[in-house]
Amino acid sequence: MTIFKPVLLTAAFALGATAASAQEERFMTIGTGGQTGVYYVVGQSICRLVNRDTATTGIKCTAPSTGGSVANVNAIKAGDMTMGVAQSDIQYHAYNGSSPEFEGDKKFENLRAVFSVHPEPFTVVARKDANIATFDDLKGKRVNVGNPGSGQLATMEVVLGAKGWTMGDFALASQLKPAEQAAALGDNTVDAIIYTVGHPNGSIQEATSTVEANLVPVEGPEIDALVEENPYYAKAVIPSGMYAGSDADTNTFGVKATFVTSADVPEDMVYEVVKAVFDNFDRFKGLHPAFANLTPESMVGEGNSAPLHPGAEKYYREQGWIQ
Ligand code: GLU
Repeated sequence: MTIFKPVLLTAAFALGATAASAQEERFMTIGTGGQTGVYYVVGQSICRLVNRDTATTGIKCTAPSTGGSVANVNAIKAGDMTMGVAQSDIQYHAYNGSSPEFEGDKKFENLRAVFSVHPEPFTVVARKDANIATFDDLKGKRVNVGNPGSGQLATMEVVLGAKGWTMGDFALASQLKPAEQAAALGDNTVDAIIYTVGHPNGSIQEATSTVEANLVPVEGPEIDALVEENPYYAKAVIPSGMYAGSDADTNTFGVKATFVTSADVPEDMVYEVVKAVFDNFDRFKGLHPAFANLTPESMVGEGNSAPLHPGAEKYYREQGWIQ
């Protein structure tokens, strides 16, 4: 893969040079997540649609793999990324400065919502031989709690807080990346893994096919309270039969993936990105099974807590999706 990268880049620059005569070239980057997750596909799909119009818009889009939600929001705040994917709870906390990751000067008031994407159930997968049938059975076990910068690590901290636990309640709380955790489960270096992610996805498929494993429900009064008290959480179900070893629906709770940017990003750039997605909506939906149930109405209306970026608003108004 890496060997081919310089060649591809050179080709891309060469193409860009011809197009530049029509429009000034502008680069944008989208922060995604691990390569085995769905954010990576969201970013790659959006870029693919945006780059079809480079000749007329001048915009060239790339979507590298990153640490996930918190890393993306921080990179947008620092001006290192133009846009990114982030969980609805992370969008809320970043904009409001209401969680430890975004307290004080880490608060990001210029965060802007573009649209929401697929639902992301908080997903726990355990090795069958670890005998973990409920979330409470995780106590004293070896758990991969999510890499630094990921949404799952932040949401896991919230769940632990709600239950009155700490990371110290696990025999091991490892912070492997999504791309590494399925192998760790298979190698028996951990008993369970956590991932806030759209379904179906390659990472959970890998985890449940390399070793006998089960999905673990995340439910009970503490979870009910989290969902009741916070607009960015909802109950979620991972349907039976989606992964090997899961022959019943798995109840949990979850967030929505959202697409965000900064108020500092020009209106016409956000407009072009939104137009590329919604003018080609059927094509976009076909790029991942987790996008199957998306509708423009839900993407504009649900999961966002930061104000909409004016470039997105302009397109939605033209479509009659908002007033
Ligand atoms: N929800 C995860 C995060 O915020 C990423 C999931 C994915 O990559 O699809 O870090």
